[in-house]
Amino acid sequence: MSKYSDGLTYGFTESTAPPVRETRIGVCSAYCGSCGDLIDDLVSGCAQLQARKFAQSGGCQLTLALGIVSSLTNVVVIIHSPLGCGSAFLGTGGMRKTMRMSKGKRDEDFVWIHTNMDETDVVQGGIEKLRGALLYAEKEYHPEAIIIGNGCVPGIIGDDIDSLALELQGSLSAKIVPVHCEGFKSRYVASGYDAAYHGVLRHLVEPVQYNERVLPDEGRDAMERYRISQTVNIFNVGSNSNSDEVELSRLVSALGLYPRVLPLHASMEDLAHIGDAALNVSICATHDDYLLGHLKERFGTDYLIDTLPIGVTSTNRWIRLIAEFFHLENEAERLIGFETRELEAALAPFREKLAGKRCYVGGGELRIITTAEFFATSLGMDLVGVKAHNIDRFVEELLENLHPTDLNVTVGAGQPAEELNVLNQLKPDLYIGHSGANGWASRFGVPNLPLFGQSLNYMGYSGAYELARRAAKVLKNTNFVKNVSRNVGIPLSRVWFEQDNRENIKETEKAG
Ligand code: SF4
Repeated sequence: MSKYSDGLTYGFTESTAPPVRETRIGVCSAYCGSCGDLIDDLVSGCAQLQARKFAQSGGCQLTLALGIVSSLTNVVVIIHSPLGCGSAFLGTGGMRKTMRMSKGKRDEDFVWIHTNMDETDVVQGGIEKLRGALLYAEKEYHPEAIIIGNGCVPGIIGDDIDSLALELQGSLSAKIVPVHCEGFKSRYVASGYDAAYHGVLRHLVEPVQYNERVLPDEGRDAMERYRISQTVNIFNVGSNSNSDEVELSRLVSALGLYPRVLPLHASMEDLAHIGDAALNVSICATHDDYLLGHLKERFGTDYLIDTLPIGVTSTNRWIRLIAEFFHLENEAERLIGFETRELEAALAPFREKLAGKRCYVGGGELRIITTAEFFATSLGMDLVGVKAHNIDRFVEELLENLHPTDLNVTVGAGQPAEELNVLNQLKPDLYIGHSGANGWASRFGVPNLPLFGQSLNYMGYSGAYELARRAAKVLKNTNFVKNVSRNVGIPLSRVWFEQDNRENIKETEKAG
């Protein structure tokens, strides 16, 4: 656990591109084994040296990076790459619009432009196409910022997007934000979050110095200084719903503090004032440790990186840690006592239906661990396994709370074939998984529940109630997935299912 600071040093924003997470924090992206072995192997460093013999697509950091920055108000995104890199963005405009409207943000279309690099550009360079796209974006849409998402091809041939941004910056009214999210650089797709926030920190957050913010400011009255001293920035993520944000804000407000949710869907004005807070609170370190660490260095704002407030135990812990920073321990205990009394009574009928059923959870590391803990501890379900996209230092302590120690753990982004093998072996009654994986579970006949949903509440106490209610509802009638599995096959051979997933893991080859 890392409380109020985590001992990492940041200070990377002098460079045009961030380091990848493999080198910055170390990461395990391939593992099959037990929870106890994983904890030991993380400590010894072996877990970080695993790879797969057979690997399926595990995602690209460009998608994650642009998912963050494209949410900002009044921006245009330029994807600088061959056309295929933009395929993930087809159809995402509707989601962005829905998300923004659900959060009361300005209704606006998602504008993205593609430079469509071809073979000639690979030889001659794609900078002129990018220049044309930047000028077009400015002239047609007059955005406050133009984001350049750099793909593998311009990264490999060395298109100097930063020099072009510097050259044009004086003549365009929009701020130009190069984002170095070339997919080939990292197997850890969450490196894309660092790439996105690197661009934001360098180009959209004012470089105010620490002492300028904390010393008495002539221009700020006492009320404003007090408000800042009681303000908590809650750092949202793409999988948050508005209901999640309302619930977390409600809990922070109940402590007598001022919550402010950002940076997703934020305006340029919001970002300019991001340093006006006493505490920055992460709800998922996988997304934002890079941003919070740099904000600490730039503005001096303390930060809390700990758990994700899903389920009763994690929400209690999240509230207590925020309260402790402001010396509001008594207020926190009163709030927790009141909320958990009400919730315990509300969960009882669902516990009756769910207790003893076998569940499996797959997705992002913090989300799966907190969700799994809730289903096992608060609802009495039998946790049979978890699958994490990646595992890093931010969940080491939380992993130790997962029981039993021989719990089946897989680490890998994507990899549906491996996951189906595990489901075949463990035969859970309920699968709770990341979008994309639930379809496979349905084809396999396993009743399932989405791990997140941008229109549903998962976080805080109200989210715990909703999770329990929906799990009980899914298990009430499982005919849908049974019919799906009867009529839709699985494209994997019997031989694959006879193999132990551990045979698919190998040590990475060391550089000679
Ligand atoms: S891995 Fe590279 S080529 Fe593939 S989508 Fe990502 S940026 Fe494009």
